[in-house]
Amino acid sequence: METENVVARLKSSGLFRTKGLIGGKWIDAYDGKTIEVYNPANGEVIASVPFMGEKETKDAISSAYDAFRDWSKLTAFDRSSRLHKWYNLLIEHKEELAQLITLEQGKPLNEAIGEVVYGASFIEFYAEEAKRVNGDILPSPMPDRRLFVLKQPVGVVGAITPWNFPLAMITRKVGPALACGCTVVIKPSELTPFSALAAAELAIQSGIPPGVLNVVMGDAPKIGNSLLESRQVRKITFTGSTAVGKKLMAGAAETVKKVSLELGGNAPFIIFDDADLEVAVKASLASKFLYTGQACICTNRLLVQEGIYDKFMNAFSNAVKSLKVGDGFSEGVAQGPLINEAAIHKVESLVQDAISKGAKVVVGGKRHSLGLTFYEPTIISDVKNEMLIARQEIFGPVAPVIRFKTEEEAIQIANDTDAGLAAYLFTNNIQRSWRVSEALEYGIVGVNEGLHAYEVAPFGGFKQSGLGREGSKYGLDDFLEIKCICMGNMG
Ligand code: NAP
Repeated sequence: METENVVARLKSSGLFRTKGLIGGKWIDAYDGKTIEVYNPANGEVIASVPFMGEKETKDAISSAYDAFRDWSKLTAFDRSSRLHKWYNLLIEHKEELAQLITLEQGKPLNEAIGEVVYGASFIEFYAEEAKRVNGDILPSPMPDRRLFVLKQPVGVVGAITPWNFPLAMITRKVGPALACGCTVVIKPSELTPFSALAAAELAIQSGIPPGVLNVVMGDAPKIGNSLLESRQVRKITFTGSTAVGKKLMAGAAETVKKVSLELGGNAPFIIFDDADLEVAVKASLASKFLYTGQACICTNRLLVQEGIYDKFMNAFSNAVKSLKVGDGFSEGVAQGPLINEAAIHKVESLVQDAISKGAKVVVGGKRHSLGLTFYEPTIISDVKNEMLIARQEIFGPVAPVIRFKTEEEAIQIANDTDAGLAAYLFTNNIQRSWRVSEALEYGIVGVNEGLHAYEVAPFGGFKQSGLGREGSKYGLDDFLEIKCICMGNMG
């Protein structure tokens, strides 16, 4: 589908915003600089957005700081009602938002619709949770004193998000932040800013006051440093690569901000001999190839036990060969393009490295004939856990398969990584499912289930996959301060 047709349709819905949002006003970069955003499916320019930096970020922080006074004082019921309105608007505009996601990110339209529904679910969930930020009364050790615990919003939040879920990664952070009474400065990826801007437009329409939600984009290090250096910003919430997450964590030390990090994964998908083959094949297809492999919880390594190996490889290969590659707007497409040239280079170099060390291509193994950043859905066998492809996040449609003999060996291989986000295991043995789930050093475990992320469930990683949890009742904790009040002379 031509980029300009989609843009024209989106413009008529009022959701196609191309400026930053500071203090309720749509703003260009102060020096007029812009940056072009591309449709990865055809290389066409979608539109330009402001290339902002330090000055705009400082103003966005000031707006958020000023807005915090009133927003944090509203009743939880008032904030909840505005979040409910925002949720309703997101769902009402599901189709347009999904088109925007497919346009800038490339994922197939049905996956984009799924992202809108998933993204909106955080706003609805936290609209409800806003009313459950409960304090506590503690037993006092002294007869004339009373002890209370009060939970209060942390203040201004800097939220930095990646390109792979351009809407849902925003709502997963902004939902709990606003519910608690925090205000936010969002920095979406420069590769996919339009979904964030459209969501912000709908937030304004839902009665969220000016300055409560601000959006700046452009020079990532300058924006990031401005957020880190500011004493008014009390929390950084980041989703993205482990490398950038580490920099932000170090930078936050100077002003001792709260930090939550949702970083990269290296998900093992373990299939034991006693697994249901059909269930395992279906789940491995989804877990590896949904979002064209560009999700942090996508399978990065398939570990297959020797007794089921041949049967699994046969069925899995047939399933992978049937995946249709193309523009996400085309009917029946299951695999979109990778986000950019750097992403496809990474995939190519990891596959080449594995082949040079003895791995074999079973399906695919090269760029797709469609050109640009399309890559063939690929399976490679004879992979060893020491190979780069098993140690780094592939973030593409390549399934490396490692053969193993025993349960102990599978656990050892699965845990032999610095990442610890998602892991999956397939078995019909109930004892094994508990044993292995408990042994896996991961924050999210799927048993006979290949991908799971819900607003009601805590999402986050062990080890270098991050700090804190998003979603669920636990997702509020990182946006709250705990205050203990002792009242004397109460006897
Ligand atoms: P990235 O390169 O780390 O970028 C993420 C965000 O950080 C973008 O907005 C980027 O801006 C910004 N950024 C880059 N350098 C910065 C700096 N020095 N200071 C401040 N901000 C900076 O990651 P990505 O390639 O967009 O996303 C893919 C990664 O995200 C993968 O590793 C994936 O696993 C991870 N991820 C994790 C989760 C999770 O929940 N754990 C979910 C989704 C994705 P620009 O894009 O404008 O440069």
